[in-house]
Amino acid sequence: MGYLKAVLNDDKNLEIKNLKILISTGKQLKRDVSKYEKELKKYDGQAVSKERPKIIKLNEIENVKKIDNIKKPKVDDNADSSKYTIKAVVSRDNMIIIDFYDSITKDFVDFKEDKTSNTFQDIYQLKGNFKDAYPTKLSINGVDQIVIKQKDSKTLEILFEDKTNLKTIYFINRNRVVLKVLDLNKKKNKATISKAVKVYKPGLNRVVVLDAGHGGKDSGAIGSEDKMYEKYTVFNVTKYLESVLKERGYKVYLTRNSDRFIKVRNRTVLANDKHADIFVSIHANAAHKSKIKELQGIETFFLSPARSERAKRVAALENQSDISNMSGSTQKAFLESLNRPRITASHKLSIDIQRNMLYETRLLHKDVEDGGVREGPFWVLVGAQMPSVLIEIGYITHPKEGKRLFNKKYQEALAVGIANGIDSYFAKNP
Ligand SMILES: [Zn+2]
Repeated sequence: MGYLKAVLNDDKNLEIKNLKILISTGKQLKRDVSKYEKELKKYDGQAVSKERPKIIKLNEIENVKKIDNIKKPKVDDNADSSKYTIKAVVSRDNMIIIDFYDSITKDFVDFKEDKTSNTFQDIYQLKGNFKDAYPTKLSINGVDQIVIKQKDSKTLEILFEDKTNLKTIYFINRNRVVLKVLDLNKKKNKATISKAVKVYKPGLNRVVVLDAGHGGKDSGAIGSEDKMYEKYTVFNVTKYLESVLKERGYKVYLTRNSDRFIKVRNRTVLANDKHADIFVSIHANAAHKSKIKELQGIETFFLSPARSERAKRVAALENQSDISNMSGSTQKAFLESLNRPRITASHKLSIDIQRNMLYETRLLHKDVEDGGVREGPFWVLVGAQMPSVLIEIGYITHPKEGKRLFNKKYQEALAVGIANGIDSYFAKNP
């Protein structure tokens, strides 16, 4: 039931009622409610029958038509672990540095020179795939132009272009290729060379709001040992993630910057206020006593009306602290106000984040389990107007995984994985 159903059934009273709910709650969450207000205006002055609106029974939500028929995606672990996958490309001083995931050999690099009527070109072709190369300009002070592009799925081209004949060299060190421009000082001796070098920044002009779950009096899930609280591990991961993303040029805001309690709905208010491009909520999972040895692994959820048993269970855990603030009909109205493009975007973001988290954590521990990408009704995500996901970084209750979640290296790997997933999402959805 709710707004959508009311429209479908042409029930004006119910429609108006649901519109009013969407507007008032939307305003509290600082969402843009103009489209609902416009819709409501249509009824101004219209005679509406006095017929009592139908009462919505709670169990009817189970019958809500799925508005998105999303199948659980298969996470392809081999896609990124190919020896041709390039992790990062940055420029530093007079160098371009290309990092692969695996060690490479000399035959990965091909070099040639070319000359047009007014420029000299040094062209490097690397056997590799860099997902963020959609031709991007890199810069080295003193070189007219450097362009990086994916020529085909297995060839990355880096082109140096200059009015003078540049001297470039390259060398390989394990998984790294360094392209270096020589004699730049001689070339530009009359100009002052500034030390500020632009680094390739995938996050430029992107705003991300990170939400470390729980905090303060709400410790979240609790592990087997003293002080193994969810609120601590998710906060550490969030702080690492913040620094990695900032380094890559993102504008980052945190819903909490210390161990304090924040109401669930205020978390997304910040995201809407800052006009965030994405909202990422970070949590750790817990299993029932009887299953602590069984349940482990990383999962990423996105908001949708779908209610699988598993999603329901996790949602119930994560919704606990605040859900009572929303009435049943408000919840329903919101679930049905979700639009398909946002669900699809959140789904894509989930896949990228999940895949990259697994990749990074499995570099440390091969046995990290893939809990998959799942959809569910998470209230912390409901208020957000942008694509949003909820990550369960692992089971705090699992004997092995629980300990890892409090290990600094593991927390960093999770953060780097999430950051790579975010990069990947924006690269594919500019
Ligand atoms: Zn949580």
